[in-house]
Amino acid sequence: MKYIDEFQNPELARRLFDEIRATVTRPWALMEVCGGQTHTIIRHGIDQLLPDEVELIHGPGCPVCVTPLEVIDKALEIAARPDVIFCSFGDMLRVPGSDRDLFQVRSEGGDVRVVYSPLDALKIAQQNPHREVVFFGIGFETTAPPNAMTVYQARKLGIPNFSLLVSHVRVPPAIEAIMTSPSCRVQAFLAAGHVCSVMGMGEYPELAERFKVPIVVTGFEPLDILEGIRRTVRQLERGEHTVDNAYPRAVRPEGNPAAQAMLADVFEVTDRAWRGIGTIPASGWRLSERYRDYDAEHRFSVDGITTREPAACRSGEVLQGLIKPNECPSFGTTCTPRTPLGATMVSSEGACAAYYLYRRLGVTATPLEASPVV
Ligand code: SF4
Repeated sequence: MKYIDEFQNPELARRLFDEIRATVTRPWALMEVCGGQTHTIIRHGIDQLLPDEVELIHGPGCPVCVTPLEVIDKALEIAARPDVIFCSFGDMLRVPGSDRDLFQVRSEGGDVRVVYSPLDALKIAQQNPHREVVFFGIGFETTAPPNAMTVYQARKLGIPNFSLLVSHVRVPPAIEAIMTSPSCRVQAFLAAGHVCSVMGMGEYPELAERFKVPIVVTGFEPLDILEGIRRTVRQLERGEHTVDNAYPRAVRPEGNPAAQAMLADVFEVTDRAWRGIGTIPASGWRLSERYRDYDAEHRFSVDGITTREPAACRSGEVLQGLIKPNECPSFGTTCTPRTPLGATMVSSEGACAAYYLYRRLGVTATPLEASPVV
């Protein structure tokens, strides 16, 4: 398949591995920011084929995983109301809240629907004018523009029964939080290519300079990841720390100005709590004052929620790259995708799910010939 097979070519992969091996002379710790990149790395055994000196630390870039428990609990409370149709992408339905998940709310009679676009939720709102329709808007800079567009459309078309439960987060403040953490071991970043395709690369040079870290914008196929690692290791070995674009087929330095304008119109930057990590200043978006009527938290007054994280779940340490998923004692025993204790075991971008799918039995998929994602 074009744009897929050509970026999984084993011969080219071998050459990139050889170049990385020939370049590296000492240990380096690189963080891939995005959970999608983590899945490619684990699925194809890339981390196991790299020279021992190159360690990949899995970052917090799984949107489902970092959505705070308090927001999940608010979603559960709103979804359980009889006048509400609660719409979400499918991977949020099994994320455990304090005492249940959205599937359970649905089994108890809640009208919880899986949609493939926030605009589908808007259509449901048009078709059901006497019910409240809420879309669960989570994610990074990638999913924020379509969610912003949907709220913009709701206002423009005068659809009053639509609202957004917002938990959007931004990558650059997370990089800053990681680099200022006392336990930080990260020496370079593979930045998330899809985020940069929206936001451009303008926010990264200051971070690269301040923390003296190379930041290489990287894609998601195996050869994209290897090229990102190759360029990162080359910078590290040379003592450089610049922002480099290893994903030019999708990323322009200026990003997508139309999407950025939509974000600036509908959202405003706010402090956000990240599940397992804590509050990071200016790390998220909320609806701006002009669109406050479309804010589900505002509309449904779901304050005063008390959350309970399972004590055994160490996803906070996983998300900060402090432990690998299989170092959690619950991994694969009391915590599996069917019985998840944390969101990192549920999400299709979660690191625990990646290790469970591809490394649970100590067997790694044949590099670049793995079976399709389940
Ligand atoms: S394996 Fe399960 S319990 Fe352990 S950190 Fe991952 S999600 Fe949490």
